[in-house]
Amino acid sequence: MQTSEQLTELRRILAEVTDLNNATALLHWDQETYMPPKGAQGRGEQLSTLASIAHRTFTDGKVGSLLANLGAAELSPEDGKLVEVVQYDYDRATKLPEAFVNTFTKETSEALEIWAEARQESDFSIFQPKLERLLELLKEKAALCGYEESPYDALLEEFEPGMTAGQLRPIFSDLATRQSALVERIVASKNQPDTAWTRAEWDEEAQWKFTLNVLRDLGYDFDSGRQDKSLHPFTTDFGMNDVRVTTRVDPHDLFSALTGSIHEGGHAMYEQGQNPADRRTPLAEGTSLGMHESQSRMWENVIGRSQPFWNHYAPILRDRFSGRLQNVTADQMYAAINRVEPSLIRVEADECTYNLHIIIRFEMEVDLMEGRLAVQDIPEAWNAKVKSYLGLDVPDDANGCLQDIHWSHGAIGYFPTYALGNLYAAQLFETIEEAITDIWKNVEAGDFAPLLVWLRENVHRHGRRKSALEILSDATGKDASSEPFMRYLEKKYGALYGL
Ligand code: ZN
Repeated sequence: MQTSEQLTELRRILAEVTDLNNATALLHWDQETYMPPKGAQGRGEQLSTLASIAHRTFTDGKVGSLLANLGAAELSPEDGKLVEVVQYDYDRATKLPEAFVNTFTKETSEALEIWAEARQESDFSIFQPKLERLLELLKEKAALCGYEESPYDALLEEFEPGMTAGQLRPIFSDLATRQSALVERIVASKNQPDTAWTRAEWDEEAQWKFTLNVLRDLGYDFDSGRQDKSLHPFTTDFGMNDVRVTTRVDPHDLFSALTGSIHEGGHAMYEQGQNPADRRTPLAEGTSLGMHESQSRMWENVIGRSQPFWNHYAPILRDRFSGRLQNVTADQMYAAINRVEPSLIRVEADECTYNLHIIIRFEMEVDLMEGRLAVQDIPEAWNAKVKSYLGLDVPDDANGCLQDIHWSHGAIGYFPTYALGNLYAAQLFETIEEAITDIWKNVEAGDFAPLLVWLRENVHRHGRRKSALEILSDATGKDASSEPFMRYLEKKYGALYGL
């Protein structure tokens, strides 16, 4: 076969696998939104059938030999990159023996139920034996995948390619010190915002319509997507022209549906902005979870929790809730949506405390993988870290080490991507403020197009053609750093809390 024929054949197989994965995602979306309860069993079977066909098609020996031939051939830079990324995926997909994958799937699905029970009972000892088993398997997985310094790196690689524990450690320890100190000053400040009014009863339909209004303004394309309701907000896509978001409306929280929508809208606009030339290949998707999270958090926090944003939306929100917000100023909305309060629960954390929750998990995960921490000592270690970083006493395991679902999925190495999202967003945004000098005037006028155009050009359209660190250094001229994020926090919250 000629090189060009081999490329065509590879692209045909990739298109097939992409279609199968997109069909799987659509079934999954339906499961989380509209599927009736009795559909669950059949849906599980359909999902597992499609996933195994996709896996078999992709890991076929034919793909391996096409890649080997193409890897040795003269290719254009565009095709060369495609082959490089597919080879990377192929190596990862074929490194784990089928027997291992089956054991891992079985153990994690059991772990999920046991974790749920342990959390219900608020008793870590129920989960402990299962987590010990998962940790054994994760160490085995790390050995199978290979790593240079830490077994943790092999797991992190799945979520944030190219990042290592060694790179994260100094960044996170610097953040921990500085963010804890900032939070201490905020808690001691006399300028505490009033948020009681946000928890009155707010009409659900009016909230829902407001989220649609804001999403459309930001640039989310409703001809290539839609918003629905689900228990936990999420984004999913079946190709760049059908990228869907969900949110959850709480009648006793004026801001939760809105911030959920903006967050997911940020993820979705990243996927809608992929390069059409890469459609139906693994190149047309977000490059890492950290970069994905940078997009959702930039829109949600940097933009959606900014003063200019609220100067623009305060009158619109007043219109939506005719008469009820007459006495609430844009400043008061801005202050309320940025309230800082150390809490035990990660998903309720604000911008100033969020990374501290992540750092607690990161440090423990590395210690677990490197053998410095035993599973049975998790609750004690957890509680000590929460006391030291957040100044809080953990009353029980449900509000402590059992709160997150991630470990029961065997997803160790996932948490750091949330904090990286905050760091990448702040670093990109410093460059954006230099590139678009009127950015805040634009936001105040409800014009978000210049920002979206910049993100399309510098982040979105590259898909997986650039790694997160390449996107960052090409766009900002610097390596990943915690400095821009700390500058952002200190400026914003220093003013809000009169520090
Ligand atoms: Zn997210």
